[in-house]
Amino acid sequence: MNKTDCPGCGATLQSIDKNAPGFVPEGAKLDEQVRCRRCFRISHYNEASSVTIDDDDFLRLLNTIGETQSLVVLMVDILDFEGSLISSLHRFVGSNSVILVVNKLDLLPKVSNWNRIVHWVKKQAKEHGLKVQEVVCISARRNLGVDRLLETIEEYRAGRDVYVVGATNVGKTSMINRLIRDYSDLDRELTVSFYPGTTLDRIEIPLDDGSSIMDMPGIVYKHRLSELAPKASLKALLPEKPLKPAVYQLKAEQTLFFGSFARFDFVAGADQSFTLFTSTAIKIHRTKLVNADEMYAKHRGVLLAPPSIEQLDEMPAWTKHDLQIPKDGQFDISISGLGWIKVNSNVGARVVVHAPRGVKVTVRESLI
Ligand code: GDP
Repeated sequence: MNKTDCPGCGATLQSIDKNAPGFVPEGAKLDEQVRCRRCFRISHYNEASSVTIDDDDFLRLLNTIGETQSLVVLMVDILDFEGSLISSLHRFVGSNSVILVVNKLDLLPKVSNWNRIVHWVKKQAKEHGLKVQEVVCISARRNLGVDRLLETIEEYRAGRDVYVVGATNVGKTSMINRLIRDYSDLDRELTVSFYPGTTLDRIEIPLDDGSSIMDMPGIVYKHRLSELAPKASLKALLPEKPLKPAVYQLKAEQTLFFGSFARFDFVAGADQSFTLFTSTAIKIHRTKLVNADEMYAKHRGVLLAPPSIEQLDEMPAWTKHDLQIPKDGQFDISISGLGWIKVNSNVGARVVVHAPRGVKVTVRESLI
């Protein structure tokens, strides 16, 4: 294919990776008029689709934000806060203000208090070294909190451009589509503006006052189970409905299997309860720690499923995370892309999490 740039976003046109910038279906006639599929969708259907990018290119793009006078909107997924947070963001955005948008609030258990979540997110962001002007909770899917987000963006952008950044799957496209519908001028033929001769790999959505919303490609974080797991298993992994916390009363030396996605060993500590916040499609099996290895060897991908045995072959093998849960507070053990386990008592515990190699496992202050 000739090196031709998309006139909508400036990305080099290509037919290899449909999630990467500049994708056009194979066989499309490459002339000056051809836009990438994403720009085509925006201009014809007023609808964006996601584009992804890997670490180095992403950091290069982030650097360009630091050279602008703009407002940065960072989006994270409340079900995978640690996994989706771009904690190095502050190094790249210069003196620009950051609004942290927390999405998928509709998936938290029904009783969750949004003010408490905002407070928790502010504290966590600070601990990760991220300075944010404002935290806004939304559900892009249910259109909750979006008006407040628009007001907040309006308040902080003061006529400047807005850069929207986030990891893949946090719901950036869903939010951008709402912004395109509610914010930009739908009668205008070109929703995507023209960048002659540049390869900025970003989509510009013009606003009425001459400034723009820049939709940056989503970064693929391989430390999220949702990025490592085979596509066919994602339906089970990613909840569609609000989480239903499941409480397990455990004695030391007991094990819980999360299908064959991960394993949790309560190694030592007083009897206590643990609450699981994961998709209900993942079957939980309890066994004694001494029997756990044998059980896994015999039943992985079958009784212990999802993922299925074929899907397991596509995933990295487990590694162990040996964790000491402190006594002084309430903690969650977060397994990026899978969910989290709340330790209900504050008597301390030693646990071991077995998760596919590369998956981020962390201990944090309890969310709920
Ligand atoms: P992107 O990769 O960040 O652009 O994310 P998408 O907008 O493509 O969304 C990723 C997945 O999350 C899709 O399956 C969406 O339907 C889903 N999603 C996005 N926003 C929400 C939300 O507010 N709530 C729920 N439950 N799902 C959402």
